[in-house]
Amino acid sequence: MQSNNYLSHISKELKLHFYDLLTSGKNRSYHELLIEVARVLEDVLTAQYVGVYVYNASEGQFFLHSSNAKLTQQKLDYQDWISFQHGHSDIGHKVMDGRAFFNKENSYIIPLYDAQEVIGFVYIVHPSENYEEIVQSTLHLIVDEVAKVVWNIKRNYQTLGNEKKYKQLFEVTAKFHSSMNMEEILMGIMDTLREVYSQYEYYLLLSHDYSSTQHLPIKELNFDNNEIESASAKAYLTGEIQFEDIDEQCSCFYAPLKGKQGVYGVLQIVSAVDMFFNEEDVEFIKLLSNTAGNALENARLYQQSKRLISDLQLINETSHKLNSNLRLTETIAFMANQIKTSFHAEEIGFILYKDYPNRNQDVLSGSTAHFYEVDSDALKEFVRHKVSTTHDSLFIGDISTKITSKYCSVMAIPMIQNGSLNGVVIVLHTEPYYFSFETFKLLQSLVHHSTLAFANSMLREELEQLVRTDYLTKLCSRKYLDETIHKHIEEHNDGSFLIIDIDDFKKVNDCFGHQVGDRILVQVATIVKEHIGFKGIVARWGGEELAIYLPHTSLLEGYVIGRELVEKVNQHTNPNVTISCGVSYWDPTLHTEVKDFFIRADRALYEAKDAGKNAIRRDEVSNV
Ligand code: GH3
Ligand code: MG
Ligand code: MG
Repeated sequence: MQSNNYLSHISKELKLHFYDLLTSGKNRSYHELLIEVARVLEDVLTAQYVGVYVYNASEGQFFLHSSNAKLTQQKLDYQDWISFQHGHSDIGHKVMDGRAFFNKENSYIIPLYDAQEVIGFVYIVHPSENYEEIVQSTLHLIVDEVAKVVWNIKRNYQTLGNEKKYKQLFEVTAKFHSSMNMEEILMGIMDTLREVYSQYEYYLLLSHDYSSTQHLPIKELNFDNNEIESASAKAYLTGEIQFEDIDEQCSCFYAPLKGKQGVYGVLQIVSAVDMFFNEEDVEFIKLLSNTAGNALENARLYQQSKRLISDLQLINETSHKLNSNLRLTETIAFMANQIKTSFHAEEIGFILYKDYPNRNQDVLSGSTAHFYEVDSDALKEFVRHKVSTTHDSLFIGDISTKITSKYCSVMAIPMIQNGSLNGVVIVLHTEPYYFSFETFKLLQSLVHHSTLAFANSMLREELEQLVRTDYLTKLCSRKYLDETIHKHIEEHNDGSFLIIDIDDFKKVNDCFGHQVGDRILVQVATIVKEHIGFKGIVARWGGEELAIYLPHTSLLEGYVIGRELVEKVNQHTNPNVTISCGVSYWDPTLHTEVKDFFIRADRALYEAKDAGKNAIRRDEVSNV
């Protein structure tokens, strides 16, 4: 038995050294401090070597702290410790005083307790025979003093660690609040976690509409039938933290990224070994993921409002432009350009459904090339069928599963006015699932806003066409010719004018009836139109009279053309008719009105009639 003196000496020494350790103020790490504890024990207990093993709850293991290279076992699993504690007698360990173990290799294992829990153990090796006695007598000192110092070191470092963690949380929160960028926020969570708990792997489970430009460990949040019960889905749906053991080696922890209005994703933490998250860790991760959830919510709201503003601007700009009385082709070209630049579409088609419900489809000019190709027929027919039966828009991610088409993404918006289907706007992209649902919604409102403008443009052009052309002969109307001559003469001061009158047309009508009369009128009109071609404009002047304006043409040239026409009509009409013709020339030196230009041609015509018809006469007033 050791003397009381010896014991009090040891007690004093341990207390002194440990006190020094804790108060030295030296900047030692947790591991370095515990190595010092082992060294003090080696000295004071005159042991060959000492190792201090301290339990790490998040790893579930005891880790060695010693500077002695002879100690080889660096860590011990908690389960192994339990089985060692229960199985000591079987492998020849001797229990000393119920508080320590001794084995034949002169090694001693002394567990350290905090209340009933083992927080670590001291491993002492001493070769001398009577050392057992020393250990036995100093056992309670070692247990008490060492447990105390280890507990203090642990607590100090935990406080320090927590302080560091919360400082990081504070910093990352400040950063989140200054950022409206989702990517930056997600990177912030990852960086903080990797710094605080480097031992785990992290993933972000986000819904598929999140598109990342950088390399974040993102997995798609899946809600297939068989996954709805999964811990990740539960975390997303309930907004509560979930744990899941994948197998014996791997477990997962799921923290929802929760804001005020919803859950924006789930943070998955994967541990390669069985992990023991303590309450503080869980609390920290919860705080971090909630902060991130709020930041993501802000960023999303900000982006949404930005997008809404630009959507409204687009609609506003488009409506404004469409209301400014554009021609139909201009309207279409403008719309096509808006859709192309705003939605990054590859093909845009404006299809008119004529004589609905017949199957006529008119591709309006301004549509992109693909819609004029035979290759697009299947797609156009597919769209026509769907849209005309439902009057609903189509939003298809991959149409190539239904029909052959090199374009997979399809949006088709019907143009409906007063309940009737006018046509459809089709927007295409080769990549499947290229357009987002927001894009589709925006296109819908664009088309809805423009349908009226389209209809108006079309109506106006139809009317203009009606006014401009004669319904029977399809020649220009007198009004149109009159206006064109006025405009041209004002600008160029040079041209000739011909009036043609069918001879004895009354007799033709009387002989063959009005219908044949009409047909002959059309025949004469066609002959004249084909002969003039692009040289001038031919109009129906009234009744069985036609008029021709030949810009930049002299009286003589006009006369020659008129003579050719007189001959041609005589040769090529059936039943045969003849025409008479009068020519005048716009002579600027006469300083007359356009009306006079017409009158002079008319006078020449009467001269031709007087001369026996089937003839041409020119106005001799002009100087040319
Ligand atoms: P002239 O050689 O002197 O010109 O004799 P005309 O019989 O041709 O002249 P008139 O002015 O007496 O009669 C013109 C006729 O042309 C009268 C009208 O019935 C006929 N006419 C005018 N427009 C049309 C039309 O659109 N269709 C038909 N079938 N006949 C028309
Ligand atoms: Mg006449
Ligand atoms: Mg006549």
